[in-house]
Amino acid sequence: MTDIMLVGEAWGEKEEEAGRPFVGASGWLLKQMIGHAGFSFNECYVTNVFNLRPKPSNDVKNLCGNKAEGIPGLPELTKGKYVKREYAGELDRLFDEIRREEPNIIVALGATAAWALLRSSGIKSIRGAIAPSHPAVSDLLGREYKILPTYHPAMILRDFSARPVGIADLSKALRESTTPEVSRPERFIWIEPTLADLEEYDREFIQPASLLSIDIETKGDQITCIGFAPNEASAIVIPLFLENGKSYWHTPEEEVAALRYVRRWCQKPALFQNGLYDIHFLWRRYGIPVPQAVEDTMLLHHAWMPEMEKGLGFLATLYTNEASWKFMRKGLKHD
Ligand code: URA
Repeated sequence: MTDIMLVGEAWGEKEEEAGRPFVGASGWLLKQMIGHAGFSFNECYVTNVFNLRPKPSNDVKNLCGNKAEGIPGLPELTKGKYVKREYAGELDRLFDEIRREEPNIIVALGATAAWALLRSSGIKSIRGAIAPSHPAVSDLLGREYKILPTYHPAMILRDFSARPVGIADLSKALRESTTPEVSRPERFIWIEPTLADLEEYDREFIQPASLLSIDIETKGDQITCIGFAPNEASAIVIPLFLENGKSYWHTPEEEVAALRYVRRWCQKPALFQNGLYDIHFLWRRYGIPVPQAVEDTMLLHHAWMPEMEKGLGFLATLYTNEASWKFMRKGLKHD
């Protein structure tokens, strides 16, 4: 049994000579990054989707053809390029290795490994979030496996600014390597509240809280909804406007009463992600002041690691175990 399995793409020249994965330049960088993440390459089981060299240029596109030539049922590897049927045996071999080693976590290094295990590509939008193996892959493997997609070291060699992100992902792999289950944070979120719910939430959660996370969603010059979280496990969403532009509340009086809670809760010490936007919007459009904005995740992260991205989706991959929710909302998960 192995705790961490690393799955790369295919052999290069050096790997072909040695008959082993990651002995060339990518391997050098991968080993160094793994060291920074706090474990060692030798502790991992390391393999590739293709244990062969895609000749003549080491490019996996050399293994691809049109849809008719592709392995039936598998999506394209890159635009219009399907892995040819003659290479299906390589996937069988990879799945045999996984069944034999039963790793707690599989790190998919780059788009080809993500294609094989998650059947999705677009590595930038999925990296860093733990995902279950694609259902069809789980069937073949006999159970669901925990996959962490991240950048391929060869890509990082071309763009070194991605290196700290790769190291952060490998650190997450180490943290996740002790159990085979996907552990998501548990949250209890109140949605579609009534005024009575707001009163109850105020009493039970807001009043005792010393800090509230606040986030507004906007459309045009309206706040569509606003969320308040008094701790990591609880949150409430107060809707104001629906998709069709109508008020969520039945009467103007109800809406005014709901906004009174918003106004009151905004007076507490508050945490935002890029709060300058929310605070400005609340004041400019609704005349609601936020006098105690004491923390801002975007600014704290940016002060600490100015070279990195700072959007909420990216921060969630670094600091939480949330699924890649922006990706799910677009309905792109697994398909
Ligand atoms: N790149 C890979 O994906 N695998 C290797 O083994 C070497 C380079």
